[in-house]
Amino acid sequence: MEPPRVADVVIVGGGAMGASTAYHLALKGCKNVVLLERNSLFGQGATGKCAGGIRHQFSTEINIRLSILSLPMLDRFEDELGQAIDLRRCGYLFFLAREEDARAFRASLMLQHRLGVTTEWLTGNQVRSRLPFMRLDDVLGATWNSQDGLVDPNSLVQGYIAGARRLGAKCLTEIEVTGINLEGRRVRGVKTKVGEIIAPVIVNAAGPWAAKIGEMLDVEIPVVPVRRQIAVTAPISQLPSNFPFVVDFAKNLYFHREGPGILTGMSNLDEPPSFNQQVDPEWELIHFDAAMARIPFLENVGISSRWAGLYEVTPDAHPILGKAPEVEGFYCINGFSGHGLMHSPACGLLLAEEILHGKANTLDITSLRLSRFREGKLIPEYNVV
Ligand SMILES: Cc1cc2nc3c(=O)[nH]c(=O)nc-3n(C[C@H](O)[C@H](O)[C@H](O)COP(=O)(O)OP(=O)(O)OC[C@H]3O[C@@H](n4cnc5c(N)ncnc54)[C@H](O)[C@@H]3O)c2cc1C
Repeated sequence: MEPPRVADVVIVGGGAMGASTAYHLALKGCKNVVLLERNSLFGQGATGKCAGGIRHQFSTEINIRLSILSLPMLDRFEDELGQAIDLRRCGYLFFLAREEDARAFRASLMLQHRLGVTTEWLTGNQVRSRLPFMRLDDVLGATWNSQDGLVDPNSLVQGYIAGARRLGAKCLTEIEVTGINLEGRRVRGVKTKVGEIIAPVIVNAAGPWAAKIGEMLDVEIPVVPVRRQIAVTAPISQLPSNFPFVVDFAKNLYFHREGPGILTGMSNLDEPPSFNQQVDPEWELIHFDAAMARIPFLENVGISSRWAGLYEVTPDAHPILGKAPEVEGFYCINGFSGHGLMHSPACGLLLAEEILHGKANTLDITSLRLSRFREGKLIPEYNVV
C-alpha cells in the first residue's frame, strides 16, 4: 500500500509500543494515524525476541503503577480486540541469595503493598519446598506474586495492529523513515524512500533504534541497544505444569515454562552496547553452566531453539514517555530497558492521551520525561533482569 501524503500522527516503528500507540490514538478518535515499520512484518524487533514476562514486582512507584494499569488491560485484551494473547498468570518468583538483595526486595515489597499489590515474602525453606527439583541451598528468601505471568508478544502486536486498522489507522510495513522534516523547531513530517508524509506529530517508537530517530532532528535520546539472549529446551517430562516464572536475581538468570520445555535467559552485565543480534556461544556456555547449577536435570536436555535480541536501555532503566521539549510535535515512547512488553498497553494509552489532550490523565508520567536526564532527576530501578 502506498503511504498517504498527509497524516495527523506518524508513528515510527511497529513493535509493541508503536502498535499500542496507534490503537489507542485511533480508539480515541484520531482517524489519520499512520504507522511505518521498515521490516516486512510487525513486531520483529525487540518485541519478537522477548521472553513474554509480565509482572508487578518493581522497586519504583512509577513502574509498579504502570504494571497496575497495564496488566488488567491484558486481561481485557481478547474481549476488546478479538485476539487471544495466551495470557498465563503463572506467577513470578524472584529468589534472593545476597543479603543486600533481600533487603532491597523487602523494601520493594512494602512499596508494592502500599500501592495495593499483594506480593508475598517466602522464606528460603518455603522456596525450596515449592521448587524441589532446583538446587537452592544458598537462597535466603524470595518474593512471589501469583498475579504475574506471561503473554505472547506477537499476538499482542497483531491484536493492536488489527484493532488500529479496524479503527482507520494505516499500519504499513517495508517503509523505513529516513529523515524528519522540521520547520524551525517544529516537526513537519517524515521522509521515506517512497516519498514524504506531512504530519504535525511524530512518535518515536523505534525501540533499540530510538537514538537514531532522535539524531534525525538533533535530539539526544539516551537509549542504547544491548544484546540479550535466550534458549528454549527440548520437552522435559519432569517439569511441573505449574512451574512459574523463576528469577535467580543475583545471577540475572531466569526460567519459565515454554510449551513442554523451559525458556531460559541470562543477562551478561558486561555486554557492550551494539546492534549485534548474533547468539554469543561463549556466553551461552556460561549461561548453561549457571542454569544447570540451579536445575541439574537440564544436563540431560537438548536445546530446541536459541536467539539474541536487543534491550533498549536508558541510564536509569525507566522509559522515556511523552513530548520531547526541544522540538514541538515530537513524542517518545522509548527505553523500556528489558520490561517494555508488559507496559506497552499502558504506555500506548498514556502517550495517546498526551498527544491528544496535552497531558496523560490516567497516570502522571511527568517523572518519565526526556529532560530528567539533563536535570539529573533519574529514577533508578533495582529490579532489572
Ligand atoms: C531477550 C529479551 C527478553 C525480553 N523479555 C521481556 C519480558 O519478559 N517482558 C517484557 O515486558 N519485556 C521484555 N523484553 C523487552 C521488550 O521486548 C521491549 O521493551 C519491547 O518489546 C520494546 O518494544 P518497542 O516497540 O519499543 O521496540 P521494537 O519491538 O524493537 O520495535 C521497534 C520497531 O521500530 C522499527 N524501526 C526502527 N527504526 C525504524 C525506521 N527508521 N523506520 C521504520 N521502522 C523503524 C524496528 O524495525 C522495530 O520493529 C525483552 C527483550 C529482549 C531482547
